[in-house]
Amino acid sequence: MPESNHQEEAADFVRWMFAQLGLDLEEADGVCRHRLEESKRASFGGNAELRIAFQDLAVDGQAEPIDFENGACCWLLKQLRSIKPAVHVRPRRQPTAVNDISSRLFSAYRVEGGRVHLGGCQLADFPFLRMSFSTQDHGKPTVRHLFVAHDGTSVSDSQAQELGLLDVEPITTSPPRIDDTTLNALIASGRFIAAKSSSSRDPAASTVDPLLITLLWVKHASGQLHFTVGDTTVALPFSGWAKSIEAQPFVAKQSGASTFHLAATDDGRIDAFDEIATCEQSGQRVLKQDLVTCCVTGKQVLEEFTEPCPVSGKPALTEQFVECAVCREQVSKSVLEDKVCGACRQMGKIAKDDPRLVWILGEHLGLDRWKRWRLAETQNVYITQADGIMKRLLAVVDKETLAVNFLATSSKLASGWTPVEGPAQADLLQ
Ligand SMILES: [Zn+2]
Repeated sequence: MPESNHQEEAADFVRWMFAQLGLDLEEADGVCRHRLEESKRASFGGNAELRIAFQDLAVDGQAEPIDFENGACCWLLKQLRSIKPAVHVRPRRQPTAVNDISSRLFSAYRVEGGRVHLGGCQLADFPFLRMSFSTQDHGKPTVRHLFVAHDGTSVSDSQAQELGLLDVEPITTSPPRIDDTTLNALIASGRFIAAKSSSSRDPAASTVDPLLITLLWVKHASGQLHFTVGDTTVALPFSGWAKSIEAQPFVAKQSGASTFHLAATDDGRIDAFDEIATCEQSGQRVLKQDLVTCCVTGKQVLEEFTEPCPVSGKPALTEQFVECAVCREQVSKSVLEDKVCGACRQMGKIAKDDPRLVWILGEHLGLDRWKRWRLAETQNVYITQADGIMKRLLAVVDKETLAVNFLATSSKLASGWTPVEGPAQADLLQ
């Protein structure tokens, strides 16, 4: 006998057999009765009625016990076994219409300023097998069911519950078609699973033949959800057993975020609601990942409205740049202190053989006359300063071209710098 957690009282199985055959039955005092058609009475000694006792106490001269080997129950089984290719049932509670699926899926999503709709949905019936075995549970006649999936694998207890395989109803009109090869392959898999399950406890056990093999048609749904905002639509495929299908999160293409709450940017990209924010400069709704923080104002803005500050390397809104009073470079306000940028405030002493200085002096030979150098770097320039006996020199040199952006001198006692331009500059540099 195969191991299985799915069993029902034999009486319930008998009730199902009557229903499956479309036969009426009446129950009273633990006895079920069915009035036989005249043509069938001969099989039962001319009796006009089948009487099966659903309770032990009800067995008497007129009501027979449940016995799948003899009498009424055996006759019912034979009728069912003679149905070709097999008896068809389906889970009583499973969605049968596309609407049932879509309404369940739709409710999981929220689309700001847009909607979710179906981009297509197919419902298909997949053949499962129910193999029913007669057994006893604490002395009570019981029917144990073993389920086999459409691909010939065994069905776990939880999946049988999930798909509603334990509560089935007859398919009376136009059942799905199945070809003999598929059916026979399924039955062969079922017998193999039953044999393996029987021998796991007792290797010597021989497999009992099932009372009945029933085809159980389980609905599978597949399709696409469409999310539309304005002119943009994105799709999310779904696929699963109709009864247990659950909405999956939408994975946004740009941000990679998984979400059930969607929205669109002003330029028509659909993404997770939480990944969209307003540019504080332009008011546009954009992806958060396209925003940068202005290091001066702290505003979240599109990168296109900013420039990197050459001193801090951080983006700042273009209108937040001013000229440093010393190096005359455009720097963000965030690095200024008393009108002097962070680089100019922190010039460090360097040796004459510092490669950067060697490079600058190689290009501008006249500077080699100066001693006691200090240097600071921004992303764009070297800011160098040298001390003479009476004067100081300041040279701001482009890092790439070594062109002098600014040259100035000052007397050692003065605090400001006097620009040196034109021929005077040439004199100093050559
Ligand atoms: Zn500066």
